[in-house]
Amino acid sequence: MTAVSPNSKQQPKHQKARALKPGSRRPAKELCSECGLCDTYYIHYVKEACAFLNQQFDALETQTHGRRRDLTKEDDWYFGVHQDMMAARKQHPIEGAQWTGIVSAIAIEMLNRGLVEGVVCVQNTKEDRFQPMPVIARTPEEILAARVNKPTLSPNLSVLEQVEQSGLKRLLVIGVGCQIQALRAVQDQLGLEKLYVLGTPCVDNVTREGLQKFLETTSRSPDTVVHYEFMQDFRIHFKHEDGSTEMVPFFGLKTNQLKDVFAPSCMSCFDYVNGLADLVVGYMGAPFGWQWIVVRNETGKAMLDLVMDQLETQPVMSQGDRRQAVQQSIPAYDRGVTLPMWAAKLMGVVIERIGPKGLEYARFSIDSHFTRNYLYVKRNHPEKLEAHVPEFAKRIVGQYKLPE
Ligand code: FAD
Ligand code: SF4
Repeated sequence: MTAVSPNSKQQPKHQKARALKPGSRRPAKELCSECGLCDTYYIHYVKEACAFLNQQFDALETQTHGRRRDLTKEDDWYFGVHQDMMAARKQHPIEGAQWTGIVSAIAIEMLNRGLVEGVVCVQNTKEDRFQPMPVIARTPEEILAARVNKPTLSPNLSVLEQVEQSGLKRLLVIGVGCQIQALRAVQDQLGLEKLYVLGTPCVDNVTREGLQKFLETTSRSPDTVVHYEFMQDFRIHFKHEDGSTEMVPFFGLKTNQLKDVFAPSCMSCFDYVNGLADLVVGYMGAPFGWQWIVVRNETGKAMLDLVMDQLETQPVMSQGDRRQAVQQSIPAYDRGVTLPMWAAKLMGVVIERIGPKGLEYARFSIDSHFTRNYLYVKRNHPEKLEAHVPEFAKRIVGQYKLPE
């Protein structure tokens, strides 16, 4: 099934639909990523629009970028439809941003130059820095207040009803893959003249309770963490309130305790690189310290052009060979193997020296997550496997030998 088509003559049927109450069971059941669509009357379209009920990458990529992924090109399997990629960083980083603040800078430029009237983004609640609070930002200050990741499932689309009701015509939405898949499926129903989508990659997200468990299991001081990232140097970098940075090697994670911490939606997601955004800003395909930019279409190019004079850029690079490391990690993760910290640190140092870098690091991360997720869907939702896993992901997974 493809995206929903609009019917402008009558009152849209969706306006009569009833949003679900907070905490009630969602149509995608345990696979729900709390994208927010079902918190609005757009729940009317959930069967077609939900990323976990209806996988429709080919149709939505064609609708958005004018073509689907070219499966004869390996870069398309991995990174999606794109016309350009680069590494970049802001010459003057925004303080408190997740990386250098390219996402916030683009959103601010778009608002200041009148390209959009509002920006869907995620602030946090007053009480809890990691509790997401989606908003439609109308000022640069409100955009800045949304900087830095809220590393939890966030109902970004819960503000969509406000978009239609407030009569906004030009909108920027910032979001992760599952949110953007549902958004693309209903975008023609929002009454907009122009929608811009600025995406980030996303993987291994958690509920707020899951985040607490992750922090308590992994950090020396869970309550003072203000920011963390799984970095290209194979370590998790936790930034604390006092400005100090704590580094924990990936290979030292207590996998046996953390196996159930990631949300089931994220264990069954194959949209790591946010294939339906116009422009994607992440880090994993860039050298350490740089952000990774994927321009998917002309709209994305126009968005990036707005901030080019604020950026330093360099071409993307690729070094090393990930395949053996991925193949070895599959059974180790599956068995929940946890290395002693000295061995984990040693392995981190070795792999940082000789391991994959740049785009090859991004492929390493995509391969590791797609193989894990394929096994998860196969074991827990075998009836969904064939239709839910897109062809590009099947090709990626098909390169490896998987346990039963
Ligand atoms: P900033 O200027 O700090 O802006 C961050 C923006 O993210 C804000 O506009 C905010 O609205 C939005 N945001 C914050 N939390 C959420 C959320 N929960 N859902 C939706 N939007 C949110 N990049 C990779 O390359 N590999 C990864 O594995 C990866 N995982 C990620 C997981 C999550 C949950 C998120 C939110 C992002 C992830 N990213 C990943 C992207 C990366 O961490 C940075 O967000 C990105 O590079 C932008 O950095 P910045 O400094 O430009 O962003
Ligand atoms: Fe609804 Fe979104 Fe959950 Fe799907 S993922 S059931 S669309 S809230």
